[in-house]
Amino acid sequence: MKASLQDKEWVAKFEKPKGDPSGFLKPATTVLSPYLKFGCLSSRYFYHCIQDVYRSVRNYTKPPVSLSGQLLWRDFFYKVFFGTPNFDQIKGNKICKQIPWSENEELFVAWRDGRTGYPWIDAIMIQLRKWGWMHHLARHSVSCLLTRGDLFIHWEKGRDVFERLLIDSDWAINNGNWLWLSCSSFFYQYHRIYSPITFGKKYDPNGNYIRHFIPVLKDMSREYIYEPWTAPLSIHKKAKCIICKDYPKPVVDHDTASKECRKRMGEAYASNRLDSNSSKGKPSNLSRRKWSHGDHGASNSSIAKLLRTSRSE
Ligand code: FAD
Repeated sequence: MKASLQDKEWVAKFEKPKGDPSGFLKPATTVLSPYLKFGCLSSRYFYHCIQDVYRSVRNYTKPPVSLSGQLLWRDFFYKVFFGTPNFDQIKGNKICKQIPWSENEELFVAWRDGRTGYPWIDAIMIQLRKWGWMHHLARHSVSCLLTRGDLFIHWEKGRDVFERLLIDSDWAINNGNWLWLSCSSFFYQYHRIYSPITFGKKYDPNGNYIRHFIPVLKDMSREYIYEPWTAPLSIHKKAKCIICKDYPKPVVDHDTASKECRKRMGEAYASNRLDSNSSKGKPSNLSRRKWSHGDHGASNSSIAKLLRTSRSE
């Protein structure tokens, strides 16, 4: 923690959405989550040390995107789980949208084992297996792809994989984020889907992150590193990586699969609306509110306000 907070300018300018998820030699965040999870580092102590840094600089970023905002997200998920029976499942969880997820063991295993054929996704899942930690936006990419983005597989299955492999695996935070990323709760803009091709490319056009975690792709040309299946055979041969032999081709076509997912999410949301209209009680305010996370396009609403509101519900 002291090493992270030493760089006061970095702390003061910290904006979670601007961090680079492909940074692995020097991660864009503190990587303190395992210490917080196991209680080696007190979240209150960490919070107050951040406030000390803020007091010593002229300007600093604010929640939800700031570094202290990250700790508020942690408390936010603890708070909501405390007041939500069956928070870790779809069944009997009143803040969770009832979405008829599909079962497809083959697709699930390809995702879990980093063999989807999308190098950005596979590199993240391999980092998870090898390191037990990935950047927050990398977690976004893979959880979105598994659920409402492409594969339409149940968030509980992805949650279980994270729970087993993350070194910071935390019951409240993990479940809360899976509810969020699958658009089952908190966040409902299911039309916004991460591209498994262009999202990572924005941060790391040369694909260094992919080359590191998927050595078989290390000599793939920069032009094709995010979509190796589109390269001509001559490129595959030169890179000593033949698609379908040395590295899989994509398990689904992203354009088609994401379109289908949007349609199915739309249908599920419509039927949730019908169900809640026809049931005796109204859906809780918690399940209707459109909240924005401290990551992509965060709203200006403060987390403190969210915490106050969730407490009153
Ligand atoms: P920093 O950005 O340095 O943040 C400092 C601390 O704030 C973190 O250590 C963490 O305690 C807290 N924090 C940061 N982001 C969040 C967030 N979105 N929600 C709640 N607390 C946050 N984090 C876990 O600690 N355990 C998990 O099991 C976990 N599962 C996740 C599952 C999914 C699908 C997603 C999308 C995110 C998950 N996160 C989880 C949240 C987040 O990705 C990690 O806390 C963060 O990447 C840890 O790295 P860091 O310590 O460098 O974070």
